[in-house]
Amino acid sequence: MNFKLPTQIMFAMILGVITGVLFRENALFLEPLGNIFIRLLKMIIVPIVFSSLVVGVVSLGNVQSLGRLGTRTFLYYMVTTVMAVIIGLIIVNFIKPGIDTNIDLSTISLTPMSEKLDHDVSVVSVITDIVPSNIISSIADENMLGIIFFSIIFGAALLSLDVKGNTVKQFVEEFNGAFLKITDWIMKLSPVGVFALIASIVGQTGFAIFKPVAFYVATVLIAILVHLLFTLSSILIIVARYSPIVFFQKIFPAIATAFSTDSSIATLPVTMECLEKNVGVSKKVVGFIAPLGATVNMDGTALYEAVAAVFIAQVVGIDMTLTQQLIVMVTAVLASVGAAGIPSAGLVTMVIVLKSVNLPLEGIGVLLAVDRILDMFRTSVNIISDSCGALVIGRLEGEQFFESEH
Ligand code: ASP
Repeated sequence: MNFKLPTQIMFAMILGVITGVLFRENALFLEPLGNIFIRLLKMIIVPIVFSSLVVGVVSLGNVQSLGRLGTRTFLYYMVTTVMAVIIGLIIVNFIKPGIDTNIDLSTISLTPMSEKLDHDVSVVSVITDIVPSNIISSIADENMLGIIFFSIIFGAALLSLDVKGNTVKQFVEEFNGAFLKITDWIMKLSPVGVFALIASIVGQTGFAIFKPVAFYVATVLIAILVHLLFTLSSILIIVARYSPIVFFQKIFPAIATAFSTDSSIATLPVTMECLEKNVGVSKKVVGFIAPLGATVNMDGTALYEAVAAVFIAQVVGIDMTLTQQLIVMVTAVLASVGAAGIPSAGLVTMVIVLKSVNLPLEGIGVLLAVDRILDMFRTSVNIISDSCGALVIGRLEGEQFFESEH
């Protein structure tokens, strides 16, 4: 029997959950297999981001189009992220998961996370880090924003060079083609990778850890669902004129990869492949939107950070004013932009949100236990929103997509 890749991945996920539940910690022996899958994806990210952005920018034809695309993309990111936060805030104020939880923050130590939290996260550092001082070290440190900034500038420079022959452009195009081919090969392995990752996550995570924060987890999941069904689906129908059901089917391999790797960046090659090959969005739009989106557009992360901040306030008995919640809204959006597309990045940048309204950082300790699981969901939403953005921008550029299963 010859099942299509999405079906294979679906089976792999179910099998992963069953294996994790049956074998518990023993399922951890599968982790190296999952790690190899993640490493393969990470191996190709920098060359893919660089070459896709350069090819994308050059195929725009002129610098004005770059400005138009940039403005629309920025607007899309802002609208969807702010909507995600607003939905999160409404739902957390309604459900009030932090009231009467009996959680005592004074017993929580931040030492296990100190290394992560020591990392200097501030709004100013998020902005200055966009400009790389040394492109080679940005590559080595996987500073995606720096790499993106450099690639766009490089593409724009190629665009404004009035040379005949396009030698460099052709070179970058072929280079890009080779890496997309490698993505193809890696995707064939994705059912195995997804299976191994899910089995080891489920095996490690018992159900007991959910108990103290069950309402909080439920609040985040409900808010995510509302954002998917209301905001993103409406945008798909109204602006991109595309069926959300067909959309979810076509990008399913990317959703499953995001769900099992917890990383928008590791998922990027798969997201790009799904958008180009399955949906039919142009290389020009995908090359520009997908890498940028994986790095800065994080609806799920922003939503989660806002819900978490209000939850922590409820736990410590602080009734947040509307102004404080507005501050949470702004900082959650900024913190999500600053979060790298890697596992648990949102947990770290949450410091920005908590500090802005003077909430105890120990609150992060309460959320630590369930972070891995919630990261799976928020990363999936992050890449769904990036993909939806590519369809929106593509449509505004007058593109036609593949409408049905084929
Ligand atoms: N893991 C998320 C992502 O890669 C970021 C986060 O921690 O919220 O998109």
